[in-house]
Amino acid sequence: MTALWKYALESKTVDAVFAVRKGVDLYDAQPILITDPRQLANTAGSLHCGTLLLPKLVKKYLDGVNGIKIGVTVKGCEAMGFYELAKRQQINLDNGVMIGVNCGGSVSPVLARKMIAEKYGVDPDTVHKEEIDKGQFIIEYEGGHKGISVDELEEDGCGRRSNCRRCRMNIPRQADLACGNWGVIGEKAGKATFVEVCSEKVQTFSPVRSGQGFSRPKLQTRRAWTSAGKSRAQCSSLARSGGSTTSKPSARARTGSGRS
Ligand SMILES: Cc1cc2nc3c(=O)[nH]c(=O)nc-3n(C[C@H](O)[C@H](O)[C@H](O)COP(=O)(O)OP(=O)(O)OC[C@H]3O[C@@H](n4cnc5c(N)ncnc54)[C@H](O)[C@@H]3O)c2cc1C
Ligand code: SF4
Repeated sequence: MTALWKYALESKTVDAVFAVRKGVDLYDAQPILITDPRQLANTAGSLHCGTLLLPKLVKKYLDGVNGIKIGVTVKGCEAMGFYELAKRQQINLDNGVMIGVNCGGSVSPVLARKMIAEKYGVDPDTVHKEEIDKGQFIIEYEGGHKGISVDELEEDGCGRRSNCRRCRMNIPRQADLACGNWGVIGEKAGKATFVEVCSEKVQTFSPVRSGQGFSRPKLQTRRAWTSAGKSRAQCSSLARSGGSTTSKPSARARTGSGRS
């Protein structure tokens, strides 16, 4: 994703990229507006304790994307937020490109610290990496690494936020691209990003247009994946059914010329 944003900035497809970077530690996800492609490296990587909702910030501090073209990285709930604000004519989606991350859930930073101290027996300040893989929340810290099943954590009142447990937007197909590690199989599993092209807008990205370096799945063909214990088909159908309540706004709403 970072490479795509770099291309988008360098080719002037967008004027700025609004993404998320690690702040003082990995529990501190910070929004950042980037115009210099060299700064994008700071935004690479997934912060599972990043519970930000960028649409509100875009509306409040970027004038609803009027007069500037921006690219935004979004989780499913953020894509939903953008469309709801666009329907209310508070954001101009015509000036935005959204790259979505597949998302199995995020953990409240306050609860994450408590969980790591109490369930893992590790000082949260010594943790330098976290990930969710094969249904486990895994931490790496000074002196080792440890994983505990997300199901077990959640039975004890820890783990993902309750809204994430009932989320139906795990694959953000309302965005222009949906990216994740689900769907990557074989020797590339864990090393490549699965990219789904979800709108015609990103045809202006030449790497997407040429298909260079991209998996180009037929959207109707689902491969099975096993991460987090669900199949991609299950997840896709969840995303689709969730999409019905937050469908893309009409052309009128998107241009800000109509009422929802
Ligand atoms: C909370 C979370 C949960 C995820 N769960 C899954 C999952 O279950 N299955 C799956 O297939 N993929 C999941 N992903 C996506 C996956 O981890 C990778 O982000 C994706 O594969 C793209 O990898 P990349 O190396 O191409 O992206 P990178 O080049 O590393 O870029 C990552 C992008 O994500 C942004 N980002 C990081 N943290 C956040 C955040 N908290 N909120 C919004 N944007 C953020 C960064 O700013 C950057 O733009 C999740 C991502 C997040 C943030
Ligand atoms: S699981 Fe759903 S609600 Fe939770 S952060 Fe991901 S997209 Fe948002």
